[in-house]
Amino acid sequence: MSDDNMWATVFIAPGELSFRQMPMPEIGPRDLLVKVNTALTCGTDVKTYKRGHPKYNPPTLFGHEFAGDVVAAGKDVKDFEVGMRVVAGNTAPCNECYFCKRGQPNLCDDLLVNLGAFAEYIRIPDRLVRQNTFTLPDHLSYREAAIIEPLACVVHGQDLLRIQPGESVAIVGAGGPIGLMHLQLALRQGSSPIIAIDVNDMRLTIAATLGATQVVNSIHEDPVEAVRDLTDGHGADVVIECAGVSDTWLTALDVARKGARVEWFGGLPGGTQVKIDSTRVHYDELTIFGVYHLTPLSLERAFRLVCNGMVDAKALITHEVPLKNLEDGLKMMMEGRSVKVAVLP
Ligand SMILES: [Zn+2]
Ligand SMILES: [Zn+2]
Repeated sequence: MSDDNMWATVFIAPGELSFRQMPMPEIGPRDLLVKVNTALTCGTDVKTYKRGHPKYNPPTLFGHEFAGDVVAAGKDVKDFEVGMRVVAGNTAPCNECYFCKRGQPNLCDDLLVNLGAFAEYIRIPDRLVRQNTFTLPDHLSYREAAIIEPLACVVHGQDLLRIQPGESVAIVGAGGPIGLMHLQLALRQGSSPIIAIDVNDMRLTIAATLGATQVVNSIHEDPVEAVRDLTDGHGADVVIECAGVSDTWLTALDVARKGARVEWFGGLPGGTQVKIDSTRVHYDELTIFGVYHLTPLSLERAFRLVCNGMVDAKALITHEVPLKNLEDGLKMMMEGRSVKVAVLP
């Protein structure tokens, strides 16, 4: 790399990435420039790669989970300096709009989104530096730290569910990175039993290792029966859908007991209509949560969870690829051959 160029991945169109030399990002007086040490693939990257993203207009920089070293700091940056190991979130709210003022910064009308983790260097803009950037303690590896963005989404999702000790939890699509994080947090809340439902045996093995009471491969076993068997015939108290498929949104309702809380965590393609049985929602009094993204507070708490070893991030990072082979990593994830892939510039 010359002084003013870097290698970066650009998302061109669904199914098309370009790995190219780009000018180094320029930083303002309150920004940071970070040399990426490790970036992680995420379900959102896979979805964007497959079908585009409703909020990004390509061509755009790509990737949003990363940790690295500060190599330049704007003259007005106070809390960070060159040489620090840092992790940053991928968004920051404005704190001024209607939703921010109502304590829902994840729904901010002016959310700043920062992309470009699949590159040698990334700029962290002012708003993110002030709200959502953290210094790594010595014992924390870059790859563990890089998981805080999706973990913060999971923390936010579980905040809504208010899981009580001893409640039964079924996780549909439990073997993906999001499902495996929900599993770990539900365990920490004292949920019991925790039933991990997925279609991928490799991923279910990880769910079992991380402490699922029972794993159910829904290709070979009826998940409704399996969940009833483990919950005195009632269904689960809490159900979390993490696969992002309309069929599994319905499975989530099917495995819920009367009066259950159900969270549809996995997003579906824009415009998807899901047909549900209103009887279940009305007479069985289901509470259904939609959930989106994270807040600065959930990000801070996620960071604390990984710092203190309360969430095993390493178990979710099953493979690694060099930056130029990012597409292989995304395909591995898409085909269920990996959970998360570490991408190393
Ligand atoms: Zn992510
Ligand atoms: Zn706002």
